[in-house]
Amino acid sequence: MNHPLSTTVLGYPRIGPNRELKRAVESYWAGNSSAEELSAAAADIRSGMLRDLTGAGLESVPSNVFSLYDHVLDAAVAVDAIPGRYRDLGLSELDTYFAMARGNADIAPLELTKWFDTNYHYLVPEIGPETRFRAVADKPLAEFREAKQQGVHTRPVLLGPVTLLLLSKSPGGGAPLDRLTDLVEVYAELLSQLASAGADWVQLDEPAFALDRDSAELSALRDAYRQLGAVPGRPKLLVTGGYGDFGDALPILLDSPVEAVALDLVSGERDLNRLAAHGGSNGTMILGGLVDGRNIWRTDLRTASATLGTLLGLADTVGVSTSSSLLHVPVDLTAETTMDPALKDRLAFAKQKLAEVTRLGRCLSHGETIGEAEALPPVADAWRDGTVRARLSALRPDSGTRTPYRQRAAAQAERLELPPLPTTTIGSFPQTTDVRATRAEYRTGKIDRAAYVSRMRAEIASVVRAQERLGLDVLVHGEPERNDMVQYFAESLRGFAATAAGWVQSYGSRCVRPPILYGDVSRPDPITVEWSTYAQSLTGKPVKGMLTGPVTILAWSFVRTDQPLADTARQVALALRDEVRDLETAGIRVIQVDEPALRELLPPRRGDHASYLEWAVSAFRLATGGVADSTQVHTHLCYSEFGEVIDAIAALDADVTSIEASRSKMEVLDDLREAGYERGVGPGVYDIHSPRVPGTDEIADSLRAALRALPAERLWVNPDCGLKTRGYPEVEASLTAMVEAARQVRGEL
Ligand code: GLN
Ligand code: ZN
Repeated sequence: MNHPLSTTVLGYPRIGPNRELKRAVESYWAGNSSAEELSAAAADIRSGMLRDLTGAGLESVPSNVFSLYDHVLDAAVAVDAIPGRYRDLGLSELDTYFAMARGNADIAPLELTKWFDTNYHYLVPEIGPETRFRAVADKPLAEFREAKQQGVHTRPVLLGPVTLLLLSKSPGGGAPLDRLTDLVEVYAELLSQLASAGADWVQLDEPAFALDRDSAELSALRDAYRQLGAVPGRPKLLVTGGYGDFGDALPILLDSPVEAVALDLVSGERDLNRLAAHGGSNGTMILGGLVDGRNIWRTDLRTASATLGTLLGLADTVGVSTSSSLLHVPVDLTAETTMDPALKDRLAFAKQKLAEVTRLGRCLSHGETIGEAEALPPVADAWRDGTVRARLSALRPDSGTRTPYRQRAAAQAERLELPPLPTTTIGSFPQTTDVRATRAEYRTGKIDRAAYVSRMRAEIASVVRAQERLGLDVLVHGEPERNDMVQYFAESLRGFAATAAGWVQSYGSRCVRPPILYGDVSRPDPITVEWSTYAQSLTGKPVKGMLTGPVTILAWSFVRTDQPLADTARQVALALRDEVRDLETAGIRVIQVDEPALRELLPPRRGDHASYLEWAVSAFRLATGGVADSTQVHTHLCYSEFGEVIDAIAALDADVTSIEASRSKMEVLDDLREAGYERGVGPGVYDIHSPRVPGTDEIADSLRAALRALPAERLWVNPDCGLKTRGYPEVEASLTAMVEAARQVRGEL
């Protein structure tokens, strides 16, 4: 008989194959459907998930992997960690949940932040000395029972207690981790309730241990699982990580009472050595996470089954699973009916990955071997581009090095003739219904290219006129032609493919359809030049060209794994370098290359940071390093907590860096100075994520604060991000205040 956990997955996409969740929750939020209708739609999605999971023949099926918004928020709710200000709204449970997730007219939502090095975002729970925990097992119990009624005995999944605390913040002081003992008691209660309902295994996710953890945090893990292990009548425990190796947490878990541990053997292979160094698993079952939960390539089954062989030498009981939850991949490849078959043949979405897990399971249980016919088809010759490779290897080593900043700055000042404290925006202007409709009509063939171009030009002209009216100094064309800052470039570059229905949850009801970077990248034709030069033709003021940087393009795509990311980044950078040069030749004097995802791809372990930042920075410099001194290069980053990437930001060597700062009160300027950054900075002077219109005085005050950290020649004035999600009335009012504030402060210089 197979072990009850011998084949499983750690989680499954929960948005439905056609984004049914999005439609259901958005309709509820808009007041177009009732709570009952939402709950029925959610139950349908869960039944679909269950059908996929059982259909594949997995030995163990997870439950409580569905979420109406976010599984971290669900975990906070399961221990009743609901901040008082939401409770006080007096709303129903469901509406309290959505108030925490999205806020409402009166109250801001919980902070939203990136989930490890992925493009998923979770809500940051608030857990402090005042939090009164209580076990609220309703959701896991209901989903366990619901599956049971459908004939499936499942394994409830909960975010682990230590990770819950490590992902939380404590705005009122103290550290969330101080509450470990109390929280673990509540988890003990949750486990008991699940056991009483019939659950014999429960999965606790502890991905926070993919990051470097100090000894107090490691002790917390040891204490928590010692305590949970001692819960009388508890279910058996599977602890998972994902997003990298467990590192020092692995021996702790192996020596704990936990019955099974799942290893991420896709990005955390190092754990195999740890396991060996520990002298094997010491009786703990090991689940080998061999099927990638975060990328869409087929598993190389032969390599994976060889790794299973290695595992069998290190643990008495071995199973197969995914490296992480399958949350990060689209549901079903068979929906891709128009995809190039050679590409499709190399891909596996969530449903296909289930079959890979069970296939590997048969290698374990029946000693089957992987045959020739099941081997991964090779990368097609047609996807290799000899020209790109030759150009890259012929590049001079100094291709990413510009002349010293002082020299460039002088040339730029002479050519651009900007006032002190120049005003600009980050690129996009509001994407009106009209703009979206025009793109849709062009895409579906309702209008031809000529009609499309003339409508886009009209939009660009109106954006340029608006900026001249507002009195901005460096203008943008407004990006009306872009659906998404990565997808737009992917559609114009060779080596990328789009999917028809490859949706992945980014946060809540927001889903993205990442492009697939499968082959060598090149740029058949200029991409943005026609739009930027048209905008420039309408004004004497400089128009800023607008590109997405190589790292961000990789971060928001599914990227090939048959060569190092660094090599792929160089190919993308080379294509962008050509675009940068073409913009320059066409007379564009300022070019911005956005890298909002520079930090997102930072590997979880500090020991891996340097090599990542090395290639990330050199890709940016390759893209931007080919221009004359008098061409001004800008970059834009979206977050203000730079910490570990601050030196890299300085190393990008952009002439001007615009950054989010409005929420961090300009502290970022000191950080930049300490990192030796002595070039232009545009600290965002107001928060575009909120519809609130800032006052002239408060912007002027921020500028004065900035001037204490930075000489006037280097200070730029801009919002903290693009304006595409905002409406025109607020944008015009906010920019009016911004331009006026800049004028006032200029007068004080
Ligand atoms: N240029 C882009 C815009 O303005 C930048 C977006 C971003 O930083 N995420 O929309
Ligand atoms: Zn931004």
